[in-house]
Amino acid sequence: MANSKSADSKSNKNSNSARRLSFIIVLGAFIIATVYLLTPHNAKMEEVAVSDVIARANDENGDIAKITVSGSELQITLKGKDYATQVSRKDSSGTLYEQGLVNKCENKTGDELKTCQSKYPVVEYVEPSNFWDHFWDIAIIVLPAIALMIFFFWMMKQAQSMNSQSMGFGKAKAKLYGPDKKRVKFDDVAGNESAKQDLAEVVDFLKNPKKYEKLGAKIPRGVLLAGEPGTGKTLMARAVAGEANVPFFSISGSEFAEMFVGVGASRVRDLFSKAKKNAPSIIFIDEIDAVAHKRDARGGAGREDEQTLNQILVEMDGFDNDSGVIVMAATNRVDMLDKALLRPGRFDRHVNVTLPERKDRLEILKVHFKNKPVEKDVDLNALAKKTAGSSGADLANIANEAAITAAREGHKSITNNDLTEAFERVAIGPQRKSKVMTDEERKITAYHEAGHAVVGHVLPDSDPVHKITIIPRGSTGGVTWFLPPEDRSYKNIYELKDVLARAMGGRIAEKIIFGDDAITTGASSDLKNVAELSKDMIVSEGMGKNTRNLVFPSEATGYYTISTGKPYSEKTAEEIDAEIKKLTEEAAKRAEAVLKANKAVLDKVAAALLEKETLEESDISPLMKGASLPTAAKLH
Ligand code: ADP
Ligand code: MG
Ligand code: ZN
Repeated sequence: MANSKSADSKSNKNSNSARRLSFIIVLGAFIIATVYLLTPHNAKMEEVAVSDVIARANDENGDIAKITVSGSELQITLKGKDYATQVSRKDSSGTLYEQGLVNKCENKTGDELKTCQSKYPVVEYVEPSNFWDHFWDIAIIVLPAIALMIFFFWMMKQAQSMNSQSMGFGKAKAKLYGPDKKRVKFDDVAGNESAKQDLAEVVDFLKNPKKYEKLGAKIPRGVLLAGEPGTGKTLMARAVAGEANVPFFSISGSEFAEMFVGVGASRVRDLFSKAKKNAPSIIFIDEIDAVAHKRDARGGAGREDEQTLNQILVEMDGFDNDSGVIVMAATNRVDMLDKALLRPGRFDRHVNVTLPERKDRLEILKVHFKNKPVEKDVDLNALAKKTAGSSGADLANIANEAAITAAREGHKSITNNDLTEAFERVAIGPQRKSKVMTDEERKITAYHEAGHAVVGHVLPDSDPVHKITIIPRGSTGGVTWFLPPEDRSYKNIYELKDVLARAMGGRIAEKIIFGDDAITTGASSDLKNVAELSKDMIVSEGMGKNTRNLVFPSEATGYYTISTGKPYSEKTAEEIDAEIKKLTEEAAKRAEAVLKANKAVLDKVAAALLEKETLEESDISPLMKGASLPTAAKLH
């Protein structure tokens, strides 16, 4: 964050007092120098009457050696002394000469002068001293002092930054967003109303702790924000601090990971003690799963993490109820967290931050387009519709890409085309117009994409085809977009099987048109998607034919490790593999049935693609006229 500052409060205090001290030193030096230069050297001078001075000056045996006249002041140096010890202030009546003070030795030279001077005082007139006469004298003393101070500061700064890099192991690198900084508010977080509601309560705790204490309510200590990456958890935590207007100490779990043994724990201690000193305040541990994963889940990899985690637990248990510190944490993986962390008195409040629904996506887009110039007809709604499954961060990214695209195209404001380009760019990658494709490659790509499109169009439970293009983008040669008419929370088995089949459609079309052995590497990402989805359907969703309603712990979910082995038999493992294979084969068969039955449509779509490169929804439906669903591809 540009507006964050280091919150090393201890060193802040240090440098503050150092600053104050050096200010005092400089000021002191200045005053002393001024006083020294402006006052007669002997501050305790005796005052004598002018008439007395004149009488003594004119006396052959007088005791005065020298009289220095400076403005209205006479300074008298006695015989045998080399500095003035007496002063006299001449009055305004007449000149000294008229009062009788004359330089008796004025016109004498040589020996005569000497004898005269041994009897009578030398009278000397000097300009009265004023500040500017002494400016440079003072500057000569003070400037080096200031230079020294600056050097001293620089050294301290240097030492401090070294400290935070290597010497201050135990110091938390926490960031403090002080109440005076530009703060994030709930308004900056679009959508997610239920999470905001939950957190509004936390804000109230921080603002009016008394209200709750009076009723004997325990103020929560730990709030865990859980949700997919980019859903705005970090943003939300900052908004809580912003709304409550309290200091916000934030550290990321991954920062602990790079530390030496024992350092993580001492950072935790440091962080908590700072927060307590600044209470009411918020401690925010971002990506807490990095330190607080299940203590056995990574095969003993984290002795250091374990210490850090234990220290977090110790600190949270050690809180007084009225400490006024609320600990927030965020994670993408609640299932990976150590259970000890979720116990009452620790992170016992859970706030789920979900992927935005269509309405929320529109709100988020509005937030991110707020300060960007857009054409009047720009359709954020259409973009919100297209971006099912996107997180807030994805949408922010699209908004930014749209602005960049508009700038690159030389537009004054963002157009619908910029929006579409930004969306596809974020989803797949930049267009590669310069990529040279042979006619053969273009033809293969056209049939491949047409294959996806025709299978998707014909199968009854697939989302409709939204757009097809054979303009290369990112690492793909072409893309076929399917767009759900609305956001869906669940998908049924028929829909998933249609997704598998239409994903196979590309490769199958290549096979039908160019022959069994002419298939290309263009299908590798399709096949990867098929493998992942079919595995998911069997292992996590209980959708296997022979393993219906059974789910299987997998390594990816942290249910077991290589050392503990699979928690099911070899036979079951084989069954799982067989089920996955069955799904893949079924998908290929259905795609083949559809494409063979609709070869004429496939040819038409491919030809249109070769001609126009990109087909929109309105181009696609007339081309698909006459397409039919063969019995072999029917599931129900
Ligand atoms: P997380 O911590 O959940 O991974 P972040 O809070 O870091 O996500 O979000 C990243 C960025 O995405 C934010 O800085 C913001 O620009 C944008 N963003 C995410 N969610 C929202 C939202 N609900 N409203 C507005 N912007 C959002
Ligand atoms: Mg985050
Ligand atoms: Zn494909």
